[in-house]
Amino acid sequence: MPSATGEPHAIGLDIGGTKIAAGVVTAAGVVLDRTQVPTPPADQAATLAAMVEVVDQLRARHPAVAAIGVGAAGLVEWPRGRLRWAPHNAYRQLELRRLLHERTGLPTIVDNDANAAAWAEARFGAGAGSDDLVLVTVGTGIGGGLVLDGAVYRGDAGLAGEVGHMVVDPRGDHCDCGNRGCLEAMASGNALGRAGREAAARDPDGRLATLAGGPERVTGEIVFQAATEGDQTAVGLFERIGFWLGVGIASVITIFDPDVVVVGGGLVATGDLLLVPARASMERYVFARAHRDLPPVVPARLGADAGLVGAATLALRTGR
Ligand SMILES: [Zn+2]
Repeated sequence: MPSATGEPHAIGLDIGGTKIAAGVVTAAGVVLDRTQVPTPPADQAATLAAMVEVVDQLRARHPAVAAIGVGAAGLVEWPRGRLRWAPHNAYRQLELRRLLHERTGLPTIVDNDANAAAWAEARFGAGAGSDDLVLVTVGTGIGGGLVLDGAVYRGDAGLAGEVGHMVVDPRGDHCDCGNRGCLEAMASGNALGRAGREAAARDPDGRLATLAGGPERVTGEIVFQAATEGDQTAVGLFERIGFWLGVGIASVITIFDPDVVVVGGGLVATGDLLLVPARASMERYVFARAHRDLPPVVPARLGADAGLVGAATLALRTGR
């Protein structure tokens, strides 16, 4: 979709629970301009209006924008672009692709946010050049995206790749999705905070409880802080969630045989605290360890831009 003024570019939007991040992105994945607004709470019409406003604002500065790509959390039907449901967002059965196209007149695609981020990491980020990449985003929850044979793999209706809701322990902790023992329930930032509160309750004079000002106030960030100070309880909690993360990664490697596994999301900032135990249990539980080369398990490189860069470049590629 070349424009008269040079390299084609598109607007990418990343719809999160708290903010809508948007940027003007070139086909080479370069962000030329960006803006963000808060996600209106629990209101679909206001959320759509906020997206249209962000698009209008960016188009006024970049009239040659050729397409819109949206990455949204939750179950997104592909190629229809209907937001079916998300555990942490208000939208239900929202026909976002059609509505955005009607309001803007631009070709529009809407994909799952982690699918878009996986595409960006496979093209421009930690897996640049990879044709077979698995992205696992570990934040409040756990998201996942698959790039297989050089294309985003979405399954039949667009619902594939939900690595975070793969059950790793049916007798494990309850998940926000209603299931039990999902990877997200065992290895996310929420899981870390919960494990931290339990540990602090057992040891109310320990470092975790002291740092937080009470056992019930312990968060994932507090556990991270205590672990970086060398508190052994906190380090042990990272070993525990890293263990489960590695169990999940082992299964996706066993199924998809990727050439790289990229770990993104807020928790990847904790670095080796999370990734060292994750790599160790991945090695332990992957199928046929002695007869295969393991893919590297590496931190994501595009950070918070991955979703909007992926969505925009998918829109330029797909254009509909
Ligand atoms: Zn779940």
